[in-house]
Amino acid sequence: MIKFLDLQAINNSYEPELSQAIKRVLDSGWYVLGDEVEAFEREYGEYITTQHCIGVANGLDALRLILKAYIELGVMCEGDEIIVPANTYIASILAITENRLVPVLVEPDNGTYNINPLLIEEKITDRTKGIMLVHLYGQNAMHHEIKSLVEKYSLKLIEDNAQAAGAYCGSKRTGALGHAAGHSFYPGKNLGALGDGGAVTTDDGELAEVIRALANYGSSKKYMNDYQGSNSRLDEIQAAILRVKLARLDADNLCRQAIAEYYLENIKHSDIVLPTIGYLHAAKMPGHVWHLFVVRTIYRDQLQHYLSEHGIQTQIHYPVPPHKQKAYRHWETCSCPITEAIHKEVLSLPISPIMCTTDVNKVVEAVNEFN
Ligand SMILES: *Cc1c(COP(=O)(O)O)cnc(C)c1O
Repeated sequence: MIKFLDLQAINNSYEPELSQAIKRVLDSGWYVLGDEVEAFEREYGEYITTQHCIGVANGLDALRLILKAYIELGVMCEGDEIIVPANTYIASILAITENRLVPVLVEPDNGTYNINPLLIEEKITDRTKGIMLVHLYGQNAMHHEIKSLVEKYSLKLIEDNAQAAGAYCGSKRTGALGHAAGHSFYPGKNLGALGDGGAVTTDDGELAEVIRALANYGSSKKYMNDYQGSNSRLDEIQAAILRVKLARLDADNLCRQAIAEYYLENIKHSDIVLPTIGYLHAAKMPGHVWHLFVVRTIYRDQLQHYLSEHGIQTQIHYPVPPHKQKAYRHWETCSCPITEAIHKEVLSLPISPIMCTTDVNKVVEAVNEFN
């Protein structure tokens, strides 16, 4: 069987370094906020090319804490609006509502599935304080139109880089394009821990300081609490694991890219739409790190069933859009037809840095023979 994502094999490919890193932390006797987290923050900050990096407990907290810090700093307040793609994983939106800010949903581009930059300006009001830009499936979502809106209306640009670790926008890394970015190290992400983990990257020193305090009970000095914070820290053991995996992230992303290119060249089926690559991909640096390879077809459920019968695991990212979830039932009347159609038709094919050519070929052949 071809697994959708063989995490066991992926993590095995980092041995014995992973076990050595785990043992190093075990033997150190220091498990929270120590040398490993400090070193990882420095290394990941350098990788993303921001001045500050703060390890936190997960990707949702990274986004949630950025917005909370802006509230503490008086940049945003309850009821302010944040522009966010309707077509995203619900975490992007939860981070907004958790802070009693108001998500304003914008439909995606029908090719890249990322937010349609041309539909943003009509949604801007005098309560709009920021844009949450999600690099969905691993593809850079930045666009010159977004940059000019951010400047024109003095908005905060917050990137949800959970799916795009290592991607570029031109010659700049995603995660360093706006005022702050949230990163996730959930095991299945391109840079995955062996458990939960996340980070915030930013060049704003004041913001970084507030986030660091908020993630540690609102305290920057032991037993002195400046904010009503929470406990959202990256563990030493996860930081040590991430340091090992970060060293190979670019190489892993190149393997994903090679598989994606093979799929793009060789999958040929009149009922199946292949992913579109956005306008900045002509640049030398990868604008897409292929966290997911998502095809689209009105026969989605049949294709998934057929591939499963042929021993190929697939997944759906995502079956129900956020505005149709019970959690947001007050948006019942909200209509986002492009987002809704995408959710009915998308299917994610297997892709990972360790997938072998034979398996990639089997997927191509099976998909091409689907009828
Ligand atoms: C995974 C993900 C998150 C949340 O990250 P966690 O570490 O699972 O909390 C946020 N946004 C997007 C787009 C994601 O894919």
